[in-house]
Amino acid sequence: MRALVTGGAGFIGSHLIDRLVSRGDHIVVLDNLSSGQLSFLDHHQSTGQVKVIKGDLCNFEDVHAAMNEDIDCVFHLAANPDIRLGTRVTDTDLKQGTIATYNVVEAMRRCDVKKIAFASSSVVYGEGAPLPTPEDYGPCMPISLYGASKQAGEGLISSWVGTFGLQAWIFRFANIIGARGTHGVIFDFIHKLRKDPTRLEVLGNGLQEKSYMEVGDCADAILHVMSIANEPLNLYNLGSHDTASVRTIAEIVVDVTGCKDAQIEYTGGDRGWAGDIPKARLSINKMLESGFDVGMDSEEAIRHTAESLLAEIGLEDES
Ligand code: NAD
Repeated sequence: MRALVTGGAGFIGSHLIDRLVSRGDHIVVLDNLSSGQLSFLDHHQSTGQVKVIKGDLCNFEDVHAAMNEDIDCVFHLAANPDIRLGTRVTDTDLKQGTIATYNVVEAMRRCDVKKIAFASSSVVYGEGAPLPTPEDYGPCMPISLYGASKQAGEGLISSWVGTFGLQAWIFRFANIIGARGTHGVIFDFIHKLRKDPTRLEVLGNGLQEKSYMEVGDCADAILHVMSIANEPLNLYNLGSHDTASVRTIAEIVVDVTGCKDAQIEYTGGDRGWAGDIPKARLSINKMLESGFDVGMDSEEAIRHTAESLLAEIGLEDES
């Protein structure tokens, strides 16, 4: 198979590509390298199976050119990864999420590419959804601009399925963590401790509680579900069995980094930032019934991630 992976130089994209390469696929990566890194794909150079195109999803010509490379299936992962950015630059998610996804499906229509997998998010469910939240919960009312762009992306893809005969797999991810992470709470905590090993500032009261899935599990789940679910439109939550609090994450990171004297200080309030959802847990029954189970639950994934990131970036502050 020849796959186009948008955002393939990113955190989840590069792990997905590891799996695609090992099963023999050929991959075209379209990435503007805004948060992705070419070094995440270096180990595939010798295989000749990965071609990287530096381009922007907001530019239709870039997307159309990449789509014209004899593509069988698109994995659409590129997006602004920073939910908080939407609170300051309010058209970020509209452009990097909604318009970018329109460009992808429209380029698919013009190039007659029929299959797409889309990285959506648990945040589409909004606040107040029953926990764990099943795929058929609704109406979905996201409270962040990022969530709105994911919901809009799902709507565009579903409309291209209904109107132009696309086949789609929409994945609503929990928090995905692991090696090569470049953002998120564990990454932030390690960087804060590098700057000052004596204190760790935690946004909110630390009681925010979410589900964490290891990135290798996430990539395996995507490929498993695509191999067994064959409806025109397939919707799956991807997550782990349980949740972990931010307080627990802070304690694990302090332990793993060896900064045992660090004072953990909470800024207060029930959420880290405007648009954050303090408690989230996805129902993963549909994923489990498909025959896939995760290898790590939340705390194991958090410890594994802290250890991996620490090995990658070290604790020496270079600022
Ligand atoms: P990431 O930032 O590591 O990956 C995104 C990639 O997209 C990067 O390589 C970046 O350079 C690229 N990119 C961004 N804007 C682009 C543009 N306009 N044109 C071309 N390339 C562009 O983030 P990630 O964590 O790997 O996330 C991958 C996808 O999964 C995203 O769509 C994200 O919204 C979604 N998601 C992630 C999580 C998570 O916990 N990491 C949770 C839910 C959903």
